[in-house]
Amino acid sequence: MGKNNLRFAFNVEFSLGSVLKLNVKWWGWGDLSRSYDLEGRKMFLKFLEDKLQCSGDVVQQPARVDSMKFPPMKADAAFVNSLNGIFGGENVRVDDMDRFLHSFGKGYLDLIRAWRGTPQLLPDVVLYPTNESQIAQLFDESANWDFVVVPYGGATTVVGGVSTRISDGQVAVCLDFRFMNKILSIDEKSLLADVQPGCLGPEVERALSSVGLTLGHFPQSFEFSSVGGWVATRGAGYESTRYGKIEDLVESVRLVTPQGTIETPHVPASAAGPDIRQILVGSEGAVGLITSVSLKLRKAPASKSYRGVIFRDFEDGVEAVRTMIQKDIVPNVIRLSNPSETEVSIALSRRNGGSYVEKVGAWFLKKRGYLGTDGALMILGFEGSPERVRFERRLALASCKPFGGFSLGEGPGRMWYKQRFELPYLRDELMKMGVLVDTLETATSWSRLSTLHLQIMAAFREAFEELRVSGFAMAHMSHVYRTGASLYFTFMAQQLIGHEEEEWHLIKNKVTDVIVTSGASLSHHHGIGLEHVKWMRQYWGPLGIRVLKSIKHELDPKGIMNPGKLLPPG
Ligand SMILES: Cc1cc2nc3c(=O)[nH]c(=O)nc-3n(C[C@H](O)[C@H](O)[C@H](O)COP(=O)(O)OP(=O)(O)OC[C@H]3O[C@@H](n4cnc5c(N)ncnc54)[C@H](O)[C@@H]3O)c2cc1C
Repeated sequence: MGKNNLRFAFNVEFSLGSVLKLNVKWWGWGDLSRSYDLEGRKMFLKFLEDKLQCSGDVVQQPARVDSMKFPPMKADAAFVNSLNGIFGGENVRVDDMDRFLHSFGKGYLDLIRAWRGTPQLLPDVVLYPTNESQIAQLFDESANWDFVVVPYGGATTVVGGVSTRISDGQVAVCLDFRFMNKILSIDEKSLLADVQPGCLGPEVERALSSVGLTLGHFPQSFEFSSVGGWVATRGAGYESTRYGKIEDLVESVRLVTPQGTIETPHVPASAAGPDIRQILVGSEGAVGLITSVSLKLRKAPASKSYRGVIFRDFEDGVEAVRTMIQKDIVPNVIRLSNPSETEVSIALSRRNGGSYVEKVGAWFLKKRGYLGTDGALMILGFEGSPERVRFERRLALASCKPFGGFSLGEGPGRMWYKQRFELPYLRDELMKMGVLVDTLETATSWSRLSTLHLQIMAAFREAFEELRVSGFAMAHMSHVYRTGASLYFTFMAQQLIGHEEEEWHLIKNKVTDVIVTSGASLSHHHGIGLEHVKWMRQYWGPLGIRVLKSIKHELDPKGIMNPGKLLPPG
């Protein structure tokens, strides 16, 4: 195990004599050395006080790992020995810390359990495969031993995708792909790259940019999530409006299943019956392990331009976007915040009350009716050749005008672009202040979008009232299609200490019921994991679930792959 390759890490609070380096927070987001700086952000702190009765003081910290008690490892020594024979002893870990760190992702429930020192089940063994044949050999072992397999990429799942679920007597094996992180080939003529699943976003883009190419898949979790995870969950990056979601960027996928290996043809299009590739993309580790992916590339853009546009209200912005996209004007990024998110974005952007220029700008916009309580901020991003960027920007801004869209120039766009991967660090600070903070998302058609937005915002309010907590929800529309768009919600509430899980479930259930009942996507890009399973039957219908289960049964007849995820029991 090469020391320098190790990205995931232990917190500084304990020393294990482990080979793992200390550079990533287990209890929060990203690099241990990075945090969201709230210094001087008085408007935001005031907002927290007004909306959440939150003092802004640190009231809690994550539990110390060295004081946690973990369930004992249950794997038989003979089983571990056979794994050592396949993977090499250093890539087979049974120590408590490796097991603990592989027992959760980054969803609120996962994190709060980890913070409280009450993680749910731990895997018994953590494996670090270095090649595909080891995985096939692992499946051969299932004839001799009763174990389940949990695939683990960057562990940024927010739906419980990497949590351990086992029946009595079973052993859980977590397969961490971090050492299968090679770019296998780049075909510059066809614009394709074959990559291993453990490559993280920056590893992919670094290799591609060295030959003037890009994948163009930039989820907010880009720096810490992996190709395998993206493909397994049907993820979306902020440029999906232009480039598509990951399922649009996969030419072919290779999967090792308990029943053998399947690799879909490397072809740009096919009429050979239904598309098996699209069944494997989004399979969330429930049928097999993705061992390589052929990704569709593009030329890296020569020029980028990001802009802010303000609307008098969200509805005007929605109509502007719909009209623009239906005229086939397709910016790389369209992100329209609702009034509450606009308020928070402005509060976060101001330090010490804002500069003189910002104050004058705000005064001017208010006078023109833009920054009342209903203002909606839009970020538009354009990438490509300078001529194309100029041309598309002109068309897009012109189509905002009839709806009252007022261009704020490049300032807000630049700021958004610069900070696009920083906001997740804010959650860590909020959790320290005793704030429940999480996100959820969906997608629906244009004719239902505005109603759904209002219904979901109302469901959040009802949930906060029922819980008798101060709470706040905000949303943006992004990932835009000719027929509709995704809605992405962030919610915050006073944390009910001691009842954090019940509190989260009440909010999540109320809002997700509204989403599914309205016929919108159960998830647009986070996937199903554990947290959305209970709505799957309602979403796909009984026959749909039988179809999915028959695929699972064919590839994983003993049900050893990622139990509890994706498919409802029974
Ligand atoms: C702050 C934050 C921001 C986020 N922003 C976005 C966003 O903008 N867009 C978006 O789409 N998502 C986003 N997510 C969710 C998450 O990052 C995505 O779901 C991502 O695709 C998961 O990748 P990962 O490598 O971390 O996978 P993991 O979390 O490790 O795994 C996700 C699922 O895939 C399975 N899996 C992983 N690797 C394999 C493999 N090789 N073979 C088979 N199954 C496998 C796992 O078992 C699990 O079920 C965000 C999450 C956070 C915490």
